Amino acid sequence: MDFKLSEEQELLRKTVREFAEKELAPRDAAMDRANELPLDIVQKLVDAGLFGVYFPEEYGGAGADSVSAVIVMEELAKGSASIALTLDAHWLAVDPILHFGTPEQKKRFLPDLVSGNKLAAFALTEPAAGSDAAGIQSRAVKDGASWVLNGTKAFITNAGPAEVYVAAVKTDPEKGARGISTFIVEKGTPGFTIGKKEDKMGCRGSATAELGFSDCRIPAENLLGEENNGFRVAMSTLDFGRTCVAAMGAGLAGAALKVAAKYAQERQAFGQPIARFQAIQFMIADMAIGIEAARLLAYEAAWRRDAGLPYSKQAAMAKVLAADVAMKTCRDAIQVLGGYGYTRDYPPERYLRDAKLLEIGEGTSEILRMVIGTSTIKELG
Ligand SMILES: Cc1cc2nc3c(=O)[nH]c(=O)nc-3n(C[C@H](O)[C@H](O)[C@H](O)COP(=O)(O)OP(=O)(O)OC[C@H]3O[C@@H](n4cnc5c(N)ncnc54)[C@H](O)[C@@H]3O)c2cc1C
Repeated sequence: MDFKLSEEQELLRKTVREFAEKELAPRDAAMDRANELPLDIVQKLVDAGLFGVYFPEEYGGAGADSVSAVIVMEELAKGSASIALTLDAHWLAVDPILHFGTPEQKKRFLPDLVSGNKLAAFALTEPAAGSDAAGIQSRAVKDGASWVLNGTKAFITNAGPAEVYVAAVKTDPEKGARGISTFIVEKGTPGFTIGKKEDKMGCRGSATAELGFSDCRIPAENLLGEENNGFRVAMSTLDFGRTCVAAMGAGLAGAALKVAAKYAQERQAFGQPIARFQAIQFMIADMAIGIEAARLLAYEAAWRRDAGLPYSKQAAMAKVLAADVAMKTCRDAIQVLGGYGYTRDYPPERYLRDAKLLEIGEGTSEILRMVIGTSTIKELG
């Protein structure tokens, strides 16, 4: 067993950390207030080559591994969870094109998506079906050389700025999860609209909106993967998404810990820095322990993916733990800062609002605990 990162991975971490400190952290509070994804920052990610870090070189990527992608997520989230989420959602759409796309689809879509010249979004959730993904109601009907899509998608990250959308839609409604297919839909297609923009609690520097399909006609060749195999496409995509979200959680919690540790050394009470009080030290210790555990689980899930091993369970465990750790760490960071922690003058309250998403998006903690519980009982029972 080797926990040591390669020289390239260490260099990547250093580069992304510096990028996040310089370009993201100073802007994160303003993004939160503006409730808007800043496109100039997206461009900076493009220029830094971060969009394509783990994609093959033949499509313009850097050809690094999934562990490297997770490092990028962790470090970006230290500067801005909103920007990490933007890239995570982009990868959710690009990853299935890489793994399930036809050679023509890969040639047509991947170069612009891997470079980040075009932003992408992954659309599974609907107003009436989130956790119950097999219960989606949007429909696609084959009509000659086209598919005609109708329905609504909800809470879609990157909806609006994205130019390419991977949408999961029912193609055989009688068959439940086995009657879903995924399609590539381009912005500007007649009948495809961007709907209500969400006014979110956190991650407000990311774009979230509804999508509408109204007799939206797309070419037959935009079917992604086999017909009625879309549930599998979506679930395998989410395994990596959850791994990335776990790394985001470790990064975000790491940012909260840093603020708390610094403040604890500066703030005086009863004639000494509060860092000398055991109550504060214990909170800081629990933060550090949780973050390390969450990071290791996220890295293990990514490592298993790179090794070609099953990793759905590890990805789910990593996400649940990282979401719990991020929530507790951000809450305790507010506590370490006392009254100041409760104001917008310091970042932990924003971090806490950002962290809450980690318990909801890409599988709620309840659903993932069910998945982990069921598979553990099956293994051991
Ligand atoms: C900011 C943001 C960004 C998002 N980005 C995307 C995106 O890019 N693409 C996309 O497709 N989706 C996206 N989502 C949607 C997200 O994945 C869903 O919100 C999530 O899966 C939960 O679905 P839901 O909101 O319908 O909640 P519901 O499924 O209605 O769940 C409500 C509550 O019931 C619980 N629950 C449901 N079923 C069970 C059960 N069987 N047992 C126990 N508890 C249960 C849930 O855990 C939850 O607590 C995003 C959401 C947010 C908030």
